[in-house]
Amino acid sequence: MMSEKMLNEINLQIKEEMRSAYIYLAMAAQLRHEGWDGMAHWMEKQYSEEVVHAMKFYGFLNERGERVELEAIEKPQKEWASVLEIFKGALAHEKFITSRIHKMMGVAIEEKDYAAQGLLQWFVDEQVEEEATASKNVETLERIGDATGPLYMFDAQMGKRQ
Ligand code: MG
Repeated sequence: MMSEKMLNEINLQIKEEMRSAYIYLAMAAQLRHEGWDGMAHWMEKQYSEEVVHAMKFYGFLNERGERVELEAIEKPQKEWASVLEIFKGALAHEKFITSRIHKMMGVAIEEKDYAAQGLLQWFVDEQVEEEATASKNVETLERIGDATGPLYMFDAQMGKRQ
């Protein structure tokens, strides 16, 4: 039996991962609209990855015989001031998700839920990677500044994400 507290946290996290997906899709939509197809592609991949994260928690609750409860997803922001602001938003969001995962790991330790700790360790590691990638993107865009040529090159490179 999973504790009520742990169950509530995981159900909330299913929503947070789906909200992440939705935020990245909103970012992708703006990038598509502005003709940055490479960066839009990258954000669409990010969207898919977040859905996979949500499904990991969903599958975990089902395997444990717990009841999944879906929460409402807030409407994401529609417009960002620039490409740089989009990627800064992505980094800020990943930092928020990291804080969520760490909070959940704290609960899993408190509740002596060893199975949840195992699952959450995967997410702890994943967040290190997510933040590193998001930081790198912001750093690159800050260096590019207003230079159109390098921005096109960055867009092409982002379009290669598998
Ligand atoms: Mg995620």
